[in-house]
Amino acid sequence: MNSTLAKIRKSSANEIKKSSTAEELEKIRLQYMGRKGALTLILRALKDLPEERRRLIGQEANYLRTAIENLLAKRLKELKSISRESVLRNEWLDITRPGVKQARGHLHPITKIKREIEAIFYSMGFEVVEGPELELEYYNFDSLNMPATHPAREMQDTWWLKLPPVTLKKQGRVVTSRLLMSTQVTQNQVRYMEKNNPPFRIIMPGTVFRREATDASHETQFTQMDGLMVDKKVSLADLKGIMETVLRRLFGPKIKTRLRAGYFPFVEPGVEMDIECLYCRQSGCSVCKQSGWIEVFPGGVVHPNIFKAAGYNPKNWQGIAWDIGVDRIAILKYKIPDLRLLRSGDLRFLKQF
Ligand SMILES: [Zn+2]
Repeated sequence: MNSTLAKIRKSSANEIKKSSTAEELEKIRLQYMGRKGALTLILRALKDLPEERRRLIGQEANYLRTAIENLLAKRLKELKSISRESVLRNEWLDITRPGVKQARGHLHPITKIKREIEAIFYSMGFEVVEGPELELEYYNFDSLNMPATHPAREMQDTWWLKLPPVTLKKQGRVVTSRLLMSTQVTQNQVRYMEKNNPPFRIIMPGTVFRREATDASHETQFTQMDGLMVDKKVSLADLKGIMETVLRRLFGPKIKTRLRAGYFPFVEPGVEMDIECLYCRQSGCSVCKQSGWIEVFPGGVVHPNIFKAAGYNPKNWQGIAWDIGVDRIAILKYKIPDLRLLRSGDLRFLKQF
């Protein structure tokens, strides 16, 4: 009996020492002192022993029970303090330490300029209208006074899609139209006029595509923003006023402008507004090709054929239309030396804005 108690003393002490959770300690307690525990069985068997041995063994067994209980309590306390320590070690927080700065994005320079120009037009009562980037040949060229044989089409070569052509019925005739990536946003004029009646003032921002050899001032993709104003009485004088207002708001009230004749198939007459070169202030440099001026703003009076394509009677309505190259304004305003940087996705460049 004594050797059994010695075994229990040794094994219980060992197990308690190795335990690492409160659950394990509870299992050890039950194993020795539960209803069928090893020590419990010994205590229960005492009554069958002769009196002297019963006293002796009983005393030993009770001592052992107290010893195991003490060991269990001590280990439990230890485990609690270890877990508190590890929590403190892992979750320690210095609230006075400066935080980790989160990187924040910002708007792309093209988006910034686009929003700036839109805000100027909002203030003049214009509405924003958007159109598709994948366009029908009819809208992109035919409806804009550029039939298949028109030389201006050559200047605007783009990506044609290998899809079967679409058949449309326009102005009482059947038109077969291929699909292409839009080369301008001007066709949204016709798309809008087909569904709306004048008077109205709209601007049409959008991305356009050209098959170009890229260089510092040419890209295959760029952002344009066309404008169109149709009313009973609208003239070139209104157009000049709008162009000057927009350029002064973008480049400052002192910017010098000039208006000269220009040719575009959608307008008659056509004009172009230039601003003085921002680099040399008219004394001549490589950016302005020594002319002192930079073209920024083509426009004119809406061609009667465009009104006809949209189903308007050109005798009843007058219109002015123009186009702003958003990318071009961005490179002028921020003095960016190469147009291709804008869509390069290079963060070293973009982080400067
Ligand atoms: Zn210059």
